[in-house]
Order: sequence, then structure tokens, then C-alpha cells
Amino acid sequence: MTWVYAHLPLAAALTALGVASKKIVAIEGFGDRITESYLWLLVGSIATTLIATAVLAEVTVSPHFAIDRPLRLGPRLVAAAALLALPVVVGFEPAVVVVSLVAGVTLGQIGFEVCVATLGERRLKSKMAAELSGLDGNCQDLAAAEPQQVDDAVCEQCRAEGQTWVELRVCLTCGHVGCCDDTPSQHARAHRDETGHQAIATIEPGSNWAYCYEHDVLDSDWTELDSEWAIRGTT
Ligand SMILES: [Zn+2]
Ligand SMILES: [Zn+2]
Ligand SMILES: [Zn+2]
Repeated sequence: MTWVYAHLPLAAALTALGVASKKIVAIEGFGDRITESYLWLLVGSIATTLIATAVLAEVTVSPHFAIDRPLRLGPRLVAAAALLALPVVVGFEPAVVVVSLVAGVTLGQIGFEVCVATLGERRLKSKMAAELSGLDGNCQDLAAAEPQQVDDAVCEQCRAEGQTWVELRVCLTCGHVGCCDDTPSQHARAHRDETGHQAIATIEPGSNWAYCYEHDVLDSDWTELDSEWAIRGTT
């Protein structure tokens, strides 16, 4: 309901702003003094617009408004207060002076908010990109992972048990080769449980990702992959 109520003063303020602007444009020569009532109408309508939009942004559940909310809405209220103080502090100087001050405060507020929003969105994007790349956070396992020499692309444990496997993974700490989680025995995961070696990579032909069990981090571009693994993997 706040959302609806905040639109009423907003609509009224915009109407008043239109009336005030029209009157000020009609002043013959900007050197004339602005009348008290129209200056109040001007600053009052802009201040009301700022406050109403701040309230709307506050009650709107939108990720766009969630970025740096206090940093963006605070100055909006400060600008509203500055505008309301203008007639008291500056008085009713020639219209050109007062209108310039009003425009300065308003444009300054808009400029500040655009900057804050732009920087905030850029920060959010780079954070998301870092999360997607999977190398953000506390995973040192993939950072420390070493390419491993794979001599036999087989799961030795499955072979010993007379089982078959679906895919193979290599431990990036010691080079142990084990079968994947889609294979019933999950020997790669079992190796992690036994040794605490967290990082693995696929040795399947055509794929080149690495993964950390502990931190559930995937590096989808494990560039250290020795291409010969893939060849051996097919034999
Ligand atoms: Zn990790
Ligand atoms: Zn196995
Ligand atoms: Zn290992």
C-alpha cells in the first residue's frame, strides 16, 4: 500500500513542478525576482518528488534498487532538504540565481546517484563473474592444483573388483585415477575421503574441467590438461 500512497504526492509534485516551471519561464528577464509563492512551489515540488521516489525505491523489491540503497537514497533526502532550505538561506534573489541553484542541487543529486548506481552495478557484475569463474572465495585447492601424468586411463579399483566405470577423474594432488560419481563405486570420491585430496580433473576426451570437492568449486577451463590424457582415455 505504501507503494500506492507514495505515488499520490509524486503525481501532485510533478503537476506543481509543471506549474512552477511554466511561471518561471514566463518571468520577463531572468533578472527579475522570483515571487515567494512560486519559489516555494518549485523547491517544494522537487523536494516532494525526491522524497516520494526515495520512498518508492525503499518499498520496491527490486535487485536494481538493492545496490547501495542507503548511499543512493540518503543523498536524495539531503538534496530535498537543501532545496527546502534554499528560499530561507538565499532568499528571493533574481530568478536566474535561484533557478540555477535549484538546477545545481537537482542535477548534482542525479549525477551522484547515477555514479553510485553505475559503480555498484559494475562491482556486482565483477563479483558475479568471479563466482562464475569458480576461483573466487576460499578454495586454495584448485589454485594449488598441479597437472598430473596419467599412465593408464583405468580405474584400478573397479578393474580389481571386476566392475566397469562411466567416466574417470584424476586427483590433482597425487595423480590417482578413479571413477566418477555416476559410477556406483565412486572411487575418485572415495580417494578424496581417504586422503583429503580435494581437487580433481576430468580425463575424458573433449572436456577439460577441474573441481574441488570441499568447496564445491568448478573450474570449467582447466587449461593445464595434458591432451594425451584424452587420447589415452579412448583406449
Ligand atoms: Zn577447494
Ligand atoms: Zn572405480
Ligand atoms: Zn590424491
